[in-house]
Amino acid sequence: MKNTAQRVAGFKDSIFGVMSKLAREHQAVNLGQGFPDFDGPEWLKKIAETKIDQGHGQYAPFMGTPSLRMMVSSYYKSYYQLDYNFESDITITVGATEGLFSTITACVDPGDEVIVLEPFYDSYVASIEMAGGKAVPVTMHAPTFSVTESELEAAASPRSKMIIVNNPHNPTGKVWEKTELEMIVRFAIKHDLLVISDEVYEFLLFDGATHYPLAQFPGMMERTFTISSAGKTFGLTGWKTGWVCAPPKLSHAVRLVHQYVTFSVNTPMQEAVADGLGKLLEYIPTFQKTYCEKRDYFYDGLTKLGFEFPKPKGTYFMMVPIRNKTQKTDVEFAMELVEKRKVAVVPPSAFYLKSNEGQAYLRFCFAKKEETLKAALKNLQGL
Ligand code: PMP
Ligand code: GLN
Repeated sequence: MKNTAQRVAGFKDSIFGVMSKLAREHQAVNLGQGFPDFDGPEWLKKIAETKIDQGHGQYAPFMGTPSLRMMVSSYYKSYYQLDYNFESDITITVGATEGLFSTITACVDPGDEVIVLEPFYDSYVASIEMAGGKAVPVTMHAPTFSVTESELEAAASPRSKMIIVNNPHNPTGKVWEKTELEMIVRFAIKHDLLVISDEVYEFLLFDGATHYPLAQFPGMMERTFTISSAGKTFGLTGWKTGWVCAPPKLSHAVRLVHQYVTFSVNTPMQEAVADGLGKLLEYIPTFQKTYCEKRDYFYDGLTKLGFEFPKPKGTYFMMVPIRNKTQKTDVEFAMELVEKRKVAVVPPSAFYLKSNEGQAYLRFCFAKKEETLKAALKNLQGL
């Protein structure tokens, strides 16, 4: 029998699946893979039931239902003063993951270089490699997880095609400052790059942090793909409904890929998410309060256990330094925790290509019920 394709030969099982499997095997508290262990809002689940009852049982238009594209357009306008035309500029995808894949496939030719800021969300590099491109990492250095303009410059070459930025940032919980984004904008414009701005955690902000979509900056709208997902905003990761927003020419290229990857997205969920987005203004404050309480509870617990790090201002992750506890690598320590302490986490070295800084950290997901967080802290006592 012939071999399967070379393009996947170097891939490994995703760290999220690996850690969730280990959590099940060891009956460990799972603070690894990023998803809430509680359901999304009851009112939105009811809306989804109604949508199924009403029909919506056939294929949606391939670029997404008009209702959802209109609501996406309307929230970008009201929250960020960004104008995305629902007909030409918005494509609904199977979560942000498919949005990233379709965008990268639409933009990257074999040999093209894509600058990624590490630690990165793992699907970026896999998608770049499947397109035949090369991921060029720039390391975000702890404790602020910053990059400098000269580090970005050192990564640029005549083959640079794109830069991918994630804000708020998984796994560090960093919310990028406006001045830092201005530096990235200068760099992207100077090298005439396409830009993916992965903003799936756009509403997971704490302590008054502000989210600045990259497309808002002068010279950025025309080059930026803004990607987000209802999975994070409504705490319903299983609904897998996301979107890519970009001007018509860029969106057209994404749609050409999307039509052959998935064609269209689950119709009743699109209808439900559209109604959900209509209630953002009432919903977001309670959503942020819920997650802020979880962050504070878990952060207090970890600091009492002797972990020392700045409180993250966004996302539902904490990137926790482990060097005052162990000299083991993140992978060794994560294995010890899941087997002996019955707590599953993610070893962040999976999110780096170049630096080994990730070996001195563990990523914890705090999108969990208080009883789950309490059980994890109890298991970690005496470390
Ligand atoms: N980007 C980042 C930074 C993520 O953490 C995730 C994870 N869930 C995604 C994209 C993918 O989102 P979705 O579940 O909507 O595919
Ligand atoms: N984004 C989630 C995380 O970072 C998980 C996504 C996935 O499992 N593919 O943990």
